[in-house]
Amino acid sequence: MINPNFKYSVIIGSAFLVVIIASIVSSFFVYREVQDIQSTHHHHQVQPLLFMQQYEYELLRTATTFSEAYPIPDNNESQQIFSNWLNVLWSRSESIDEGPVGVVLVTNGFDLEHLKQSLKRIDQQLNQTQRVTIESYKAVKKILAGLIEAAHAYQQHRNLLYREIYLERQIKVMEYFRSNFLLQMLTLILGFFVALYLARTNKKLLGFGIKLEELVGTRTKSLSITNNKLKDEIEERRLTEVRLLESQSQIEIAKQKAENRMNFDPLTALASRTLFIDRFEQALIRSRSDSTQVALLFLDLDRFKNVNDTLGHSMGDELLKMTAQRLNSVLREGDTAARFGGDEFTLILPDIKQVSSIEYVISRILDELGKPYNLAGNSTVVSASIGITVFPKDGDAAETLLRKADSAMYKAKENGRNNYQFFTEQMDAAAHARLALESELHKEIEKPQFELYYQPIINTSNGLIVGAEALIRWPHETLGMISPEVFIPIAEDIDLILPIGEWVLYRACRDAKHWQNSAGKPLTITVNMSSRQFQKQNIPQLVSKVLDVTGLAAERLVLEITERLLIEDNQSTLSQFEELRSIGVGLAIDDFGTGFSSLSYLNKLPISILKIDRSFIQGINEHNSSLELVKTIISMASSLNLRVIAEGVETRQQGAILSANQCVLCQGYFFSKPLALADFERYLQQEGQHIDNISKVE
Ligand code: C2E
Ligand code: MG
Ligand code: MG
Repeated sequence: MINPNFKYSVIIGSAFLVVIIASIVSSFFVYREVQDIQSTHHHHQVQPLLFMQQYEYELLRTATTFSEAYPIPDNNESQQIFSNWLNVLWSRSESIDEGPVGVVLVTNGFDLEHLKQSLKRIDQQLNQTQRVTIESYKAVKKILAGLIEAAHAYQQHRNLLYREIYLERQIKVMEYFRSNFLLQMLTLILGFFVALYLARTNKKLLGFGIKLEELVGTRTKSLSITNNKLKDEIEERRLTEVRLLESQSQIEIAKQKAENRMNFDPLTALASRTLFIDRFEQALIRSRSDSTQVALLFLDLDRFKNVNDTLGHSMGDELLKMTAQRLNSVLREGDTAARFGGDEFTLILPDIKQVSSIEYVISRILDELGKPYNLAGNSTVVSASIGITVFPKDGDAAETLLRKADSAMYKAKENGRNNYQFFTEQMDAAAHARLALESELHKEIEKPQFELYYQPIINTSNGLIVGAEALIRWPHETLGMISPEVFIPIAEDIDLILPIGEWVLYRACRDAKHWQNSAGKPLTITVNMSSRQFQKQNIPQLVSKVLDVTGLAAERLVLEITERLLIEDNQSTLSQFEELRSIGVGLAIDDFGTGFSSLSYLNKLPISILKIDRSFIQGINEHNSSLELVKTIISMASSLNLRVIAEGVETRQQGAILSANQCVLCQGYFFSKPLALADFERYLQQEGQHIDNISKVE
């Protein structure tokens, strides 16, 4: 932005400068012209004129002396004077020829030739005759008169010319002077205005200058601030860029990791489920094109949970790692082993030509996995169960083949573990049946048709019924009576165990209260609990509510829990146990002996009853070892102040042996099968019959 004042001052200033220069130049011209006039006047005008006047005088003198000397030839003195004057003229003609003035004269029209010719002619006229005739006298007179006239004319001409030049010069000088004068005036006027303007703007300029200084000051300040900010910003950006780069590489690493995590199982480094599916599908595509077979093996470790429970999760992980290594050692190149989840592994064996080659690989796997594992000094044997499907025989989609291999694996487990099973269509039917059962269960929950059966628990020392275990039954319209062993695990898987468990608890407590009221018998009711219930519900709260609603005393209720639930070292579950015990509810360990709980472990738990698993009871009259085990359990329980109940007592002999070993609480088909409510109530009225049976054995 240019200040308009400044613009004007520049214009005015430059105009002023131009005028001054012009006036100086014109002054110079005036000066030069005047100088010129002076010098030319002196050299080129004054001298030649003086010269010409001298010359004319000499001519006139010569003419006069000639007139005096002639035609009277006797006057010698006059002739001598005339001759002298003529000589002067001759020397004059010479000097014109040589001198600088002469040059000026000749160049300005003086006829030197005419002068010389005339002088020669005069000499001729006078020397020819030696006597001056009147004719020659007249001739000389005429020549002289001609010379005088010419000199005069020349002078006149010169004078006129000079005057003209002089005048012209003067006019020029005057003109120069006039314009110079005008310029000077203009300079003055302009100078005046400039001075005026300067005086006026000086103040403004001063103020403007100060303002400008201030402005520049603040601008500089703000500039330096902005500069600093910019510097900071640049630094910030640089840092951000560095951070960005860092985070980018971190993202890259994380991505890589995520990909690895997606594709590989972090624990065993085997292929993940995702990568497995991918590879399996690839294998199927390849096999379709070269019409070979692909085998899919679904492998589950037998009793892996026991290892986890007894030796801890880190040992469980160790076992899985070792299993992965063993699997890898057996596989051929091109085979894929993946960890499918938990203790489940899947294997792809492509390029299969005959079933025997699958069987060969499987036998090697089972051999390898069957070898004992060394886990922290413990030699542990863990076998595996394998289900197999073959493409394209068993299906042509990865999902189908997987599902069927899974079913086959379950079948292998059912068949006694450490085993393998090729998929058959019947298995598929079983899997379908399970699915069907699931949906049936969902329907059932909306309007429960379950029934509770009660199996009495007898004190064999006096034959009295001390209580009963509530066992659920599911009478299905089309499927018939469904065993809890079939539907309880399913209900646990799909969380329907929670409403079912609640239903059972209410029913059992209600019925127990009823017996107490009607028969005056304070029986203890035993209810089976699933671990899932403790994980997902607040059981003490539920139990208190149920006891409240039904009016049953807490001491009349025993909850049965499995060993596994105890070992899952879950703080919430444990505190629920404590709470239940504190309100007076009993806790029994069901199927004791089948799990891995150590006896000393029980010491720390708020348990009141041990129920010895029926597999031991069944063996007591056949194997000595079973009897020894049962004896140990009984004595250990008594030292821990726990009551013992023997489950699955089927014969009088078993009851007698147990009673002889101080186990007087028994439950089993020998006394009664689980009974429907009405039947159980009838059974209650025949109390006391069974004591005789037991004593008869002894
Ligand atoms: P459990 O708690 O060990 O119940 C004992 C099972 O052994 C019952 O099978 C019973 O009928 C059977 N039993 C009793 N005495 C004898 C005998 O002398 N010989 C033989 N061979 N078996 C005998 P049930 O009723 O089929 O129940 C199977 C399992 O289902 C139960 O085992 C229990 O774990 C579970 N269960 C039953 N009812 C419920 C329930 O309401 N809730 C939960 N969570 N589980 C239940
Ligand atoms: Mg039970
Ligand atoms: Mg049991």
